[in-house]
Amino acid sequence: MAMIDNGPPDFHEYLPTIIKENYGKWLYHEHPRPGVLKHVGPAGALYSVRVGEPRLMSVDSIRAVCDIADEFCDGHLRFTSRNNIEFLTPDESKVLPIIERCEEMGYPVGGTGNSLSNIVHTQGWVHCHTPASDASGIVKAIMDDLFEYFGTQVLPNKLHIAMACCLNMCGAAHCSDISIVGIHRTVPRMDHEAIRKNTEIPSLVACCPTAAIRPDPKNKSVSVVEERCMYCGNCYTMSPGMHIMDAENDGLAIMVGGKVSTARTDPSFSRMVIPFLPNNPPRWPETVEAVRHIVEVWVENARKGERLGEWIERIGWERFFSISGIPFSDKLIDDYIFSRETFRTSSAFKF
Ligand code: SF4
Ligand code: SF4
Repeated sequence: MAMIDNGPPDFHEYLPTIIKENYGKWLYHEHPRPGVLKHVGPAGALYSVRVGEPRLMSVDSIRAVCDIADEFCDGHLRFTSRNNIEFLTPDESKVLPIIERCEEMGYPVGGTGNSLSNIVHTQGWVHCHTPASDASGIVKAIMDDLFEYFGTQVLPNKLHIAMACCLNMCGAAHCSDISIVGIHRTVPRMDHEAIRKNTEIPSLVACCPTAAIRPDPKNKSVSVVEERCMYCGNCYTMSPGMHIMDAENDGLAIMVGGKVSTARTDPSFSRMVIPFLPNNPPRWPETVEAVRHIVEVWVENARKGERLGEWIERIGWERFFSISGIPFSDKLIDDYIFSRETFRTSSAFKF
């Protein structure tokens, strides 16, 4: 019989037996130690050992990780959306051996409960076409600096950090506790020859989210209304003649206070608090310091159980700026025409 590609196979067949038996009937979960989750249902408990992974992995590394799952977990593991690996077993006696084996191999155990989970991030300079910065390099520098919070559970609540290297934000930067976003700050430099030869011009005009690109039939090219451009780089994905990278002016912005969870408070978008930091590879010290500072201010001032955004909402954004010492400027005011909730529209904001 011919095989037909109808998408991925049904995930149910790959679930560990304990998950199949407890499916839809889970009762509660606990955090027995950093990096270990215990989910309990009528059929018994499932232990998940979480380790951080580097996101870009060689086949050899993936095979080595699968060997651990074969030895201790009947072959069961999962890769999480925040670049962690979880080894899944119903046998509590396997938990310590899994931890020891992972640590021997250099995979740190942690990221559960009131800790810093691994940073979710995008592609960066090496792998994508519109980045204003690197992603992997910045994430490595930040994670090295904040590593103490990965293997402990001493934060007020969980801490999700995200990194996106352009405004298209294919990472979770719009809804993480702290987000680092690569930003361009100049309009695309146009190479009309490349636009004429290599571009479908109607698609190029249509791709611009602010309608800044206008057809220029006389020159068989386009023009850009500069004051409408928000430097997103979308047009560079449509045409190699719309150069958006700018070594002098590209850099990073920092946003805070987003979350996806509906626990206690509604989900919320992140808001920008630092509009620009320089691209400073290989270790981005200004960005690392800014992120650590925000984390430390939250740790010192939040109540137990408060996510970063929940703490800020309780004390007010103006207090956040004064406590943190981060300067407030007009660059932080979002006047995007479709935006519903901004510093400008918030009645609680009194600057
Ligand atoms: Fe590419 Fe932008 Fe995603 Fe970075 S955030 S990988 S530049 S689309
Ligand atoms: Fe439009 Fe973005 Fe290109 Fe500016 S950078 S012209 S906003 S698509």
